[in-house]
Amino acid sequence: MKKILITGGAGFIGSHVVRRFVNTYPNYKIVNLDKLTYAGNLENLLDIEKAANYKFVKGDIVDAAFIQDLFNKENFDAVIHLAAESHVDRSISNPIEFVMTNVVGTVNLLSAAKKSWKGDYEKKRFYHVSTDEVYGTLGEGTEMFTEETSYDPHSPYSASKASSDHFVRAYFDTYGMDCVISNCSNNYGPFHFPEKLIPLSIHNIKQNKAIPIYGKGENIRDWLWVEDHARAIDVIFHKAKSGETYNIGGHNEWTNIDLIRTLCKVMDRKLGREEGTSEKLITYVTDRAGHDLRYAIDATKLKNELGWEPSLQFEEGLEKTVDWYLANEKWLNNVTSGNYQSYYEDQYQNR
Ligand code: NAD
Repeated sequence: MKKILITGGAGFIGSHVVRRFVNTYPNYKIVNLDKLTYAGNLENLLDIEKAANYKFVKGDIVDAAFIQDLFNKENFDAVIHLAAESHVDRSISNPIEFVMTNVVGTVNLLSAAKKSWKGDYEKKRFYHVSTDEVYGTLGEGTEMFTEETSYDPHSPYSASKASSDHFVRAYFDTYGMDCVISNCSNNYGPFHFPEKLIPLSIHNIKQNKAIPIYGKGENIRDWLWVEDHARAIDVIFHKAKSGETYNIGGHNEWTNIDLIRTLCKVMDRKLGREEGTSEKLITYVTDRAGHDLRYAIDATKLKNELGWEPSLQFEEGLEKTVDWYLANEKWLNNVTSGNYQSYYEDQYQNR
């Protein structure tokens, strides 16, 4: 039996990765380590929390002694590292927290892995999950980020993720640890925290509240169905050569304003409102400082070498996302009211 540490498994993408690994690999023991910040929600994992091959550990990757202790006790075979502070706006108001979690936290994990795996590196794997935002911004043309694109981060969030990527590579180059990295575009789908564009807009449309759009809504992002990202992580984790990096993307570029107009149409239809009702809620707000214009991912390497491709067309994924949010009102209410944060105490502490 393989024992895999997945960090940040109570977050948006992490919960999909944990679910996929727990359900697909009954012969793996999955340990989900998460601090349960505002973004961590164990209600994302209700369907698998009692699985025999799953365990949750509450803890902070910034706490080096705790992390080393965990590695000593658990004897992990691999790490899939997703824990991070992930919201660009929050990084602009509080960069230090991003340095602590994203940089120091990553180095703590690398260092604990290095100590406990010494002499056994070829049997172990450290997989770091990162973002396309490390590459900076593209112009309006057709150029795309490849694995060869130089790093040029602009926000404190992307700077912290770029730094953590460099540390992971340094552990591969300097100590010979088996490390792999993937850089993915924007994800969307179920369990997305409603501070991010798509779930925030769904939530606001439902409540007839303004939909805030930065600047003129002209920024372009490439969107990927979150379960396709989890599947890419599975493929890369199992098949990538040590030291490799893969870009993951949906070949699916949208300006923010076109995306939101499309979402408004879907919402009008689903809520039985006259077409055009939700669009009236669009409200342009002062642009985010240092807002990158365009991200676009070239995922050819992942397709050609490991056979991964996105499975869902965006329109279909958006429908599924809206259906999920409309059917999971309790989840959304618990998140927006803050009630989800007592779930750990109720289920894990007060047993
Ligand atoms: P998220 O904010 O939804 O989840 C992050 C999780 O990490 C939360 O459960 C949180 O409690 C946990 N966490 C935060 N600080 C921690 C700490 N100090 N110790 C332990 N746990 C901690 O983020 P997400 O959107 O699921 O992103 C997951 C990873 O994927 C991140 O590394 C992010 O950079 C990367 N990524 C995200 C996207 C995206 O579109 N969301 C795209 C590409 C890459």
